[in-house]
Amino acid sequence: MSRMIRNMNDDDLKSCPCCGGKAFFVVEPSAYSNSFFYFIACDDCGIETPRTFRTKEAAARVWNKRVS
Ligand SMILES: [Zn+2]
Repeated sequence: MSRMIRNMNDDDLKSCPCCGGKAFFVVEPSAYSNSFFYFIACDDCGIETPRTFRTKEAAARVWNKRVS
């Protein structure tokens, strides 16, 4: 079983602020509870949001704010 799940529903994400590449949501099951964590990564250069978030919306807000 894969530990990380790529969620392709990424229509609300802006492209990568670093390289302009395609960004995607990553969903990571918590090791300590039945919840999930979300973060966003770039498919091309590999940068990620600096932390994980409890909701996709919170992760997307931070990611989109980094775009200049
Ligand atoms: Zn990138």
